[in-house]
Amino acid sequence: MVEYVPCEDIDETNICAICLEETKKDESIVKMSICNHHYHEKCALATLNTKEECPLCRKNIEKDLEIIKHFKNKEYSCSSSKYSSD
Ligand SMILES: [Zn+2]
Ligand SMILES: [Zn+2]
Repeated sequence: MVEYVPCEDIDETNICAICLEETKKDESIVKMSICNHHYHEKCALATLNTKEECPLCRKNIEKDLEIIKHFKNKEYSCSSSKYSSD
């Protein structure tokens, strides 16, 4: 399952794999379950509309993306922290 994670829970460097900018606490971050790479939610949705693979490791992340889109449709106005369950 894909996770919405608070930024402080991400180890390594807090860099979005897509835009290569730093991820900040108040931004929605998504982490791919298949490879554990993370991106801004907006970057994931924008870039991965055209290709469904991780820009870093080229793994197929189609299933994770479907979950992200599902979340977006369901609770569009909510912030990322609401998605984390315990
Ligand atoms: Zn980004
Ligand atoms: Zn990856």
